[in-house]
Amino acid sequence: MKSALVLFFLPLTLLAQQQNPIAIECDIFIRNGKIIDGSGNSWYYGDVAVENGKIAAVGRQLNYVGKKTIDATGLIVAPGFIDVHTHLEDDESKDPNATNFILDGVTTCITGNCGASNTDIGKYLRFIDSLKLSINVATLIGHNDVRKQVMGRANRDATTSELEQMKNIVDTAMREGAVGLSTGLIYIPGTYTKTPEIVELAKVVAKYNGVYTTHMRDEGDSVTYAINEALTIGREAKIPVEISHFKLSGQQNWGRSKETVPMIAAARKEGIEVTIDQYPYTASSTSISTLIPDEILADGQDSINARLDDPETRKYVIHSMLERLKKRKLKHFSYAVVAFYKFDTTFNGKSIEQINRMKGNKHSKQKEAETIIDIMKHGGASAIFHGMSEEDIKRIMQYPFNMFASDASIREFGKNMPHPRGYGTNARVLAEYVRDQHVISLEEAIRRMTSLPAQKFQLHDRGLLREGFAADIVIFDENKVQDVSTYDHPHAYSRGFQYVIVNGVLTAENEKHTGARAGLALYGPGLSK
Ligand SMILES: [Zn+2]
Repeated sequence: MKSALVLFFLPLTLLAQQQNPIAIECDIFIRNGKIIDGSGNSWYYGDVAVENGKIAAVGRQLNYVGKKTIDATGLIVAPGFIDVHTHLEDDESKDPNATNFILDGVTTCITGNCGASNTDIGKYLRFIDSLKLSINVATLIGHNDVRKQVMGRANRDATTSELEQMKNIVDTAMREGAVGLSTGLIYIPGTYTKTPEIVELAKVVAKYNGVYTTHMRDEGDSVTYAINEALTIGREAKIPVEISHFKLSGQQNWGRSKETVPMIAAARKEGIEVTIDQYPYTASSTSISTLIPDEILADGQDSINARLDDPETRKYVIHSMLERLKKRKLKHFSYAVVAFYKFDTTFNGKSIEQINRMKGNKHSKQKEAETIIDIMKHGGASAIFHGMSEEDIKRIMQYPFNMFASDASIREFGKNMPHPRGYGTNARVLAEYVRDQHVISLEEAIRRMTSLPAQKFQLHDRGLLREGFAADIVIFDENKVQDVSTYDHPHAYSRGFQYVIVNGVLTAENEKHTGARAGLALYGPGLSK
C-alpha cells in the first residue's frame, strides 16, 4: 500500500526523488564530502543535511534531497570554527558581514577579551541581535571596564564598597548572558589590581558556571609568575581558566615553552580546569603604551602628558624603555611597528626606528625612545611587535588543549595596517602547520577550532557535526586553503573556504560572501529565564 502511494505521487516530484523515492527534503544537502566532525576522529566520506538552521542528519549516503545541493567531492566538511579570543567592540556595525572571519572559516566569535568589554551585557547582546551579523557572538565581561566604571583609572586597591559594586556589575552581566570574566592585567587599570580582587570577582562568575579568561600580567620575563597567578585564581575561585594568546615574548625568553606548557599540564593533573589559546604568528599586536611603565599611565591622557613633561620622570621612562630593549638584545626599536596612529596616519605601517628617521632625528635608541614618548603624548597608537619564536609557537601548538584564536576584530578592508591574524589565523594553521609542516593532524586542528572551544565556553549545540546541532558548517579544500594576509599587505582574505554556513544559511559560496547575516547572540549559562 505504502509503495503504491509513493508511485502515485512520482510524476509530481523532482527527478532526484524519482531515483530515491523516499528521499527527505531539506534546505541544504551537502553530498560526498570528507566529514571531519570536530571530535578529533578520522575523516570519512559522508553527507550532511541541513534543515531549519539545524543539522538534520550526518552520515554515509544519506537519502535526502536539498533545495540547495552542495557537491563536496574532494572537500573537507567540518563544523564552523569558534574563535575564542576576539575584540569586536565598536567594530560590529562597520562591517556586519564580518568578511574577514567568514572567509577564514569562523562562524562564532567570543568577544570581550583582555579585560575590555561593554559593561551592560544585556544591552550589548540585544544590540548584537538587532544588528544581525554574519557570525554568532558570545561575550565575556571585561574586568578593566568594570573597574573603570567603579573607580576610574586609579592606581590603588578597591575599597570594600567598590569591590561590592564591581561584584554586582559582574553578577548582573552573568545573569544577562556573559560567558565569563576576562582580565587584561598589562592594561590600565588591570595592572593596578591585585590577585584577591580578581578571585572575588571570579567567584561570582563561577556561581553561574562561567569561565575566567586572562591576558596575563606578563608574557615575558615573569611569565611563570603570571601563569601561577592565573592558576591561583582558578584554584581559589574554583573556576575554569583560559589563558589567552599563550606565548613567550622577547628573545631572552625564547624556548621557555619547555617550562610553561608543562605548567599547564601539571595544573590539569592537579584538577584545575585550565586550557590555553594562541595565534599562529611570531608577532603580537597591542597598544604602544605597553612600552611605557604602568605608573605613568594612570588617570587619563592629561595626567600622562603632565608626567611625560616632567624632566625627571621623562628620564626615568626613557631609561626603563632602553633597559627593556637591552634585555631583548636589540639595538633599535625596529621590532615595534605602528599599526594605527590617529594623530599622524603617515606613520602607519612604519617601525619606530623608521619613524624616528622620518622625523629627521639621529639614528639612536635614545631618540627612538623619545619618539615613542611623543606618540604617547599625542594619544598613543596600536602597534605590531615582532618578538616570538617559531619553536615556541609549534611547541604550544602541540599541546592538546590549546585552541586557536585571532585576537582580532572585524576588519574594515583596506583600512590601516592591522595584524594579519584578523584575516588568516585558521587558514594559516591549516596551511602552514598542518599541511606543510605536519605539526598537528588535520582532525586535531579542527577539534581545537570547534569542539574544544564549544566545550570550554559551554556552547552546547555547536562545535560538532551532530544531528540537532546548529548548522554552522565550513567546507574547504585542504590542499588549497591558504592565509594570504601578511604584515606588509594585511588586507587579503584567506583562500580555500568554498562554503560557509551559519545557522543553516549559506554565508559564503565559492569563496565569496553571499551577504547573508544569520548570526545570533549566544547567551552564557547564567542567563536568567
Ligand atoms: Zn590580550
